[in-house]
Amino acid sequence: MTPDQLRAYLSFYEDLGVTDVYRRAPKVYEANSVVGSNIEKLAPVAARVEPPPAPRVAAPPPPPPPAPPQAPPPPPPIQAMPTSPAPLPSLAPEGDTLLKILGDIGPDCRRCRLCEQRNKIVFGSGNEASPLVFVGEGPGADEDASGLPFVGRAGQLLTQMIDGTASKEGIQITRKDVYICNVVKCRPPENRTPQPDEMQTCGEFLFRQLMVLKPKAIVALGSTAAKALLGTKEGVTKLRGNWQKWHDIPLMVTYHPSYLLRPYNQEAKREAWEDLKKVLHFVYD
Ligand code: URA
Repeated sequence: MTPDQLRAYLSFYEDLGVTDVYRRAPKVYEANSVVGSNIEKLAPVAARVEPPPAPRVAAPPPPPPPAPPQAPPPPPPIQAMPTSPAPLPSLAPEGDTLLKILGDIGPDCRRCRLCEQRNKIVFGSGNEASPLVFVGEGPGADEDASGLPFVGRAGQLLTQMIDGTASKEGIQITRKDVYICNVVKCRPPENRTPQPDEMQTCGEFLFRQLMVLKPKAIVALGSTAAKALLGTKEGVTKLRGNWQKWHDIPLMVTYHPSYLLRPYNQEAKREAWEDLKKVLHFVYD
């Protein structure tokens, strides 16, 4: 199509009140959440192309016969709801146990690139009959060395939060009474955020753990846990403080202890304590 033909074409559609033009572009893939799966999926997005400004010409050449309009852009990706009622039968095999899940992960899991620099797989620890489960993002250096979740600085803060809040609220529990695990079981290099495929691969094991544990409530620590469990891109600030659901289990999103360790996050700290108070009363009152 020559520039003159293009101008005429655009002008023709402008006269019809069509002011936006789209063209097919190579598929660009970006991470989107999909309701029901709770796991990041790749979905195509269309690139929108603005038409070049069509200068008004005194006598436009006659418009060419209208070409069939290009396919409209796909609808925006479905935002996952904060709740995901779909059952996950395949993720909870009959008679599943934590021991079976651990066995299925295996002593030298090589399902994703996180295996390359990991020392120890960090499965989870605590009271397996606990009505309360905390889910973090992934092991850090201390956890990678010990094989236990939340034993480094963030872990110490989490322990203080649980023990301190429970004691202040007159609830007779300490950290050993709850169960703690992570979305990914191997340390991401340099403590980077786990990537969607890593979350997807390890998320299956997390889901099985939660189905076996069947707690009365879940606490998602930070945005990675929130994303893995709720399938939402919504940030912690928006989600925290209100009950969400993972399947039919009440779930509270709150700040990750590593975030609270930063000195300027005093307000977030206060909010995290409020969230925890709410959870402890819900679970133990
Ligand atoms: N941060 C996490 O998310 N998990 C841990 O186990 C330790 C630090």
